[in-house]
Amino acid sequence: MGNIILGGGIAGVGAAYELKKHNIGSIILEKNDSWGGLLDNFIVDGFRFDKFIHLSFSNDKYVNNIFFETPLIKHKPLSSNYYKGTWLKHPAQNNLYPLNKEEQDKILQDFRQRKDLDASKIKNYEEWLRVQYGDYFAENFPIPYTEKYWTLKASELETKWVGERMYKPTLEEIEKGCQTDLTPNTYYAKEMRYPKKGGYKSFLEPMIKGLDIRTNSKVCNINFLKNEITLKNGEILVFDNLISSLPLPEICKLINDIPEKVLKASQKLNFTSGYLVSLGFNKPDIGNKLWFYIYDKDILPARVYSPSLKSKDNAPEGCSSLQAEIYFNRGEKLKMNDLEILDQTIQRFIKMGLFKEEDLIVKDIRCEKYANIIFDHHIYENRKIVLDYLKENKIISVGRFGEWDYFWSDQSLISGRNGALQLIKLSKSNDSYY
Ligand SMILES: Cc1cc2nc3c(=O)[nH]c(=O)nc-3n(C[C@H](O)[C@H](O)[C@H](O)COP(=O)(O)OP(=O)(O)OC[C@H]3O[C@@H](n4cnc5c(N)ncnc54)[C@H](O)[C@@H]3O)c2cc1C
Repeated sequence: MGNIILGGGIAGVGAAYELKKHNIGSIILEKNDSWGGLLDNFIVDGFRFDKFIHLSFSNDKYVNNIFFETPLIKHKPLSSNYYKGTWLKHPAQNNLYPLNKEEQDKILQDFRQRKDLDASKIKNYEEWLRVQYGDYFAENFPIPYTEKYWTLKASELETKWVGERMYKPTLEEIEKGCQTDLTPNTYYAKEMRYPKKGGYKSFLEPMIKGLDIRTNSKVCNINFLKNEITLKNGEILVFDNLISSLPLPEICKLINDIPEKVLKASQKLNFTSGYLVSLGFNKPDIGNKLWFYIYDKDILPARVYSPSLKSKDNAPEGCSSLQAEIYFNRGEKLKMNDLEILDQTIQRFIKMGLFKEEDLIVKDIRCEKYANIIFDHHIYENRKIVLDYLKENKIISVGRFGEWDYFWSDQSLISGRNGALQLIKLSKSNDSYY
C-alpha cells in the first residue's frame, strides 16, 4: 500500500524526489529496463546516443539547482539550416545571404505584402506562417518543415503553442540578412547546457538516490474500484495514491470500465513518433554543427545533431557521431522498412557531403512511439475530457504526456514536482490520501 508513480522519466522521478524530500515514500513503475524515459540513452559499440537532441536551456531556479550539481558543458545555441543544397544560418528568415537574388527578392516582396491580420483572426498555423513571413518564405521553409516535423499540414494545426518558439523578424533584419552574412545569432535560448559525462540523463542523477524505481515493470491494468495495478508479469500492487506520467492514450487503455467517451477522446489525441538514425564515425571531425534543420522534403530527417559535439564523452576517442530525427504520425511507421530508411538517410547524407561511406563505423535505427504531442484543432476539448476524468478518479497526471503539453524537460520535471505537492496538499485535507 502507498504512493505509486507510473513512469520513470523526468516527471515520475521528479515526483518521487519531491515526495522523498517530504519524507514520503513511493514506488516508481517503469516498463523499460532502465529509468529516464525520453531522457535515457543507449550505447552502440562505445558511441552514446540520447533519444533525440536534448540540451538544457532552463531558466528555472528549482531545476537548475538540480542540473548544476552535475559537471556540465555550455554551448552557444548555434544552429544551421539546409535548403536545396545551401547552408543558411539560423533562423533562415533573417539569414538569406547564401540564397540567389531571385529567391531573396521573392521573399522580400512577399514579406512586404503580408496581410496585416489581428492575431485573434488567424485561423490556423499556415495562416500564421503566411502572416509572419509572407507567402514565398512560408511555402518554402516552415510549411514543408511542418509536414516533416509535425507530420500534418500546417492548416491542421492551431497556433497557441507557438509562443516564442518561432523568431519573428522585422523587414530591416530580413533586408540586412540578404546583404551580409555578418548577422547576429538569434535563438530563444542564450546557452545550451549538457553534462560532461553520461549523456543528458546525468542531470537527473542527483534526484534518484534512495528512490524505489522498479524497472521492467510494465503496467497492464488499473482497477479504480480495488485500487489495484497489475503488471505484465502478473504481480498486483495496491495503491493509496497514484501519480501517472504515462501518455494519456496509454493510461486510458489500461483502466477497467473507462467510459466510452473518455476512451474515444484519448484516442483522438494526436502525436508524432520518431525514428532515431544514429551514426558513428572513425574520425573526430564529422558533424561540425551542434544541430541543423533540413527543409527538403525528399530528405527524410527533419533535424540532425552531433552527440559528440554535445560532449566528447559520447564517442570513443578520435571518433565523432551524428543522430537524425525522422517523424511519423501516431505510431504508424513509414511504408519503407527500417533498413531502407537507414540506408536512404545515409546515402542522402553522403550526397550532402556530411561524410564519406568509409568514415562510417556504426549505424543504428530505432523508434520512439511518443515524441511530440500535436496541437491540432481538437486537442483542447479531447484533452479536457481525459484530464477531468482522471482528476475525478484522483489520478494525478503529470509530465509531457500526462498533461499532454509541449513541455521541455525542465517543465516536465516541474510538472512531476507539482504532482507531488498536489498529493501532499490533498493528504493534509484527507488523512487517507497517503
Ligand atoms: C524530439 C524531442 C526533442 C527534445 N529536446 C529537448 C531539449 O533539447 N531540451 C529539453 O529540455 N527537452 C527536450 N525535449 C522534451 C523532453 O524530452 C520531455 O519534456 C521529457 O523527457 C518528458 O519527460 P516525462 O517524464 O514527462 O515523459 P517520458 O520521459 O516519456 O516518461 C514516461 C515514462 O513512462 C513509461 N511508461 C509508458 N508506459 C508505461 C507502462 N504501461 N508501464 C510502465 N511505464 C510506462 C515510459 O517508458 C517512460 O519512461 C525533447 C523531446 C523530443 C520528443
